[in-house]
Amino acid sequence: MPYDYDDQNIFAKILRGEIPNDTVLETEHTLAFNDIQPQAPVHVLVIPKGPFVCHDHFAAEASEAELVDFLRATAEVCRITGVAPGAGGDGYRTIANAGENGVQEVPHYHLHILGGHNMGRMLPNA
Ligand code: AMP
Repeated sequence: MPYDYDDQNIFAKILRGEIPNDTVLETEHTLAFNDIQPQAPVHVLVIPKGPFVCHDHFAAEASEAELVDFLRATAEVCRITGVAPGAGGDGYRTIANAGENGVQEVPHYHLHILGGHNMGRMLPNA
């Protein structure tokens, strides 16, 4: 079934400038901003500006320019926030929740970048 994008979701409103955000980085196709309820000292959300619902939707249907811009933006966010191990940082975790089992709350694709302290095991019950 094709994805049905809801343009009333909160990140769509951020992209339209209808509600504020704490921007970390903005590029041609990508916006990165601090999570409003951070779960680690560094908690940045990276989102494409296009109407993509979740990771596989974006990965399958975004243009090459959007894909490259998004990935490069994630690297830049890691550099800006100081978490990139290759630049002396202590590391980070990326998370992309999708759909019901992924417990995705906002139906606009977003990659969480979390760091600033040890993130513990990947899953709480693993
Ligand atoms: P997810 O469960 O992966 O869909 O995560 C949604 C994330 O969006 C949560 O971590 C929320 O804290 C975050 N969030 C919701 N509204 C806002 C907002 N207005 N600005 C920044 N982050 C938000």
